[in-house]
Amino acid sequence: MAGFWIRINPQGCVDGSVHEEYVGPLAEDAHKQFTPRVRDRRREATEGWRHELVGHDEWDQRAKPCLLGQCEHRKAAS
Ligand SMILES: [Zn+2]
Repeated sequence: MAGFWIRINPQGCVDGSVHEEYVGPLAEDAHKQFTPRVRDRRREATEGWRHELVGHDEWDQRAKPCLLGQCEHRKAAS
């Protein structure tokens, strides 16, 4: 399955996505794409940032509204 890695902030809002084909199957490698420095990755992990592999349908449901700024999280934050 060619899916997408999505990057989720501690509030549960999707902050970015990258093709699985480009990154590979490991969440750690997906995290590296977004956050190159290991120290920053450790900090983000303790803050609750997550990286999940999703298929196309799930991407449409979960990631798209966030990336377009039309999700519940942003409404709640503003
Ligand atoms: Zn969101």
